[in-house]
Amino acid sequence: MSNDYDLVIIGGGCAGLSLASRISELGNSSPRTLVLDSRSNYSNDRTWCFWNLPSSQASHLARYQWSKFRVATEHQEIIVNCSDYAYCAVPGDDFYRHSLTTIGKNPQLTIQSGCPVLGSVQRAGDRWEIETPETIFTANNVVDTRPVKAPQVGGAILWQTFIGAEIEVDAELFAAGQVTLMDFEQSPLGRIVFTYVLPFTANRALVEVTEFSPTLLQPSQLQDFLTLAIKDITQGGEYRCLRNESGVLPMGQTPLPQSLSPGHAVGSSFVRAGVAHGGARPCTGYAFQRIQCWATQCAVSLVEKGYPVAHRKDGYAIAFLDHLFLRVLKDEPNLGPNLFTQLFGSAPTPSVLRFLGDCATPADILQVISALPPSPFIRALLDLCRRPGVAWRELLAS
Ligand SMILES: Cc1cc2nc3c(=O)[nH]c(=O)nc-3n(C[C@H](O)[C@H](O)[C@H](O)COP(=O)(O)OP(=O)(O)OC[C@H]3O[C@@H](n4cnc5c(N)ncnc54)[C@H](O)[C@@H]3O)c2cc1C
Repeated sequence: MSNDYDLVIIGGGCAGLSLASRISELGNSSPRTLVLDSRSNYSNDRTWCFWNLPSSQASHLARYQWSKFRVATEHQEIIVNCSDYAYCAVPGDDFYRHSLTTIGKNPQLTIQSGCPVLGSVQRAGDRWEIETPETIFTANNVVDTRPVKAPQVGGAILWQTFIGAEIEVDAELFAAGQVTLMDFEQSPLGRIVFTYVLPFTANRALVEVTEFSPTLLQPSQLQDFLTLAIKDITQGGEYRCLRNESGVLPMGQTPLPQSLSPGHAVGSSFVRAGVAHGGARPCTGYAFQRIQCWATQCAVSLVEKGYPVAHRKDGYAIAFLDHLFLRVLKDEPNLGPNLFTQLFGSAPTPSVLRFLGDCATPADILQVISALPPSPFIRALLDLCRRPGVAWRELLAS
C-alpha cells in the first residue's frame, strides 16, 4: 500500500469525519484521502444539538426534535416555542456509524484508527510528512483537526465546562416535547451554572450541568451540581445511569501564535479545523453546524481548486457582539441568568435562533441588540476602549 495521499485528515472526530463524508459523496472525483485517528473505536460519547435552520446540514441525522424550550431563573420561567426551527439532537453513535458507512462506500478513502499522529507535520519538498508510530505518511494537502493546546487559563474569554448523565427512570417524568435549555435555579451568586435537560422519551433523558467561567475547571468539579439536579428532577427517586458525557469548550478564544493559527499554510495546502480552530461559535460554544458547513465548503474546494479551506471568520458585527456579550458574562456573571431570559423572552424567537445559528439578517441583529439591557454592554465597551491592545487583538482574532 502506498503511503502517499492527495489528502491526509488528522483526527477522525466530528470535523475529520464530516469532511471525509463530504469528500466520499463526491464519488470518482474525490481526492485519495487518509483519515488518521488516535482512538481505536467510536462510542456514544456525545450528543450534538442544533436548531434546524434553513441553512442547517445533516439534519436527516437528528433522531430527536423538540418544538419548545424552557429557560428559568429563581424568579422567572419562560417557555419558548421554536417550532419554526426545531431543536434537534444527533446521538454520537448515529453520527459515527453514518459517517463511517458513507466513507466506506468510496474506495478513494481510508480510515486508520488507533493511529496517533506524532508532533507537527513537516514540509519535505512538495509534500507534507505526517509521522505516526509505525509509518511516515506523505500528502499533498493536510487538514489537521487536533486541538493544538490543552485548554488553559486565558486561552478563551470563558470556558464552557459541562458534565452530564443519560438517565432512565420507571415513572414517566419527562415532558417529551420540551427541552430545558438553561435552568439557573441552582446557580450560586457570582457564577453562571445551569442545568440542561434533553428528554429523549418520557422516562429517559440527558441531564447536564454547565458552567461558563474564566477559570479552567474539570468537568468532575460540577459533579455535585449534577447529582443535585438529578435528585431534583427524579424527586429523589431511583434512576439508572446509562452513560456519561462531559467536555470543556472555548468561548471566544484568544489568538494563537501565527504558527498555530488555522490558516497557517504553504500555498494553502495545510489548514487546521475543528472546535479549537474557528469551528465553535464564540457566544455558545456550539460547533456541529459550523463544522458541517465548513466540511461542505472544504470538500468542494479540494475537488474544484485542489486545496483545503479553513473555517470562515465571523463578520465584524457578529464577532464584536459575541465578544462584548462574553465580556459582560465574564465581568458581571450575576447578570448572566437574566440576560439569557431577556434574550429568549423579549426578542422574536426566529431572530434569536438565526443569530445564534450563524444566519442572522441585519434586522435580526438589531432585534437581539434591542432585547438586551444597554448599560452592561456600554460598561464592557468602555472597558474595551480603555484596554485597546489585548482586547482589540482578541476581537480581531475571533
Ligand atoms: C460532550 C460534548 C457535547 C457537545 N455537544 C455539542 C452540541 O450539542 N452542539 C454543538 O454544536 N457542539 C457540541 N459540542 C462541541 C463540538 O461540536 C464537538 O466538540 C465536536 O466533536 C468538535 O469536533 P472536532 O472534530 O473539532 O473534535 P473531535 O470531535 O473531538 O475530534 C478530534 C479528533 O482528533 C483525534 N485526535 C486527537 N489527537 C490526535 C492525534 N495526535 N492523532 C490522531 N488523532 C488525534 C481525536 O481522537 C478525535 O477523534 C460538544 C462537545 C462535547 C465534548
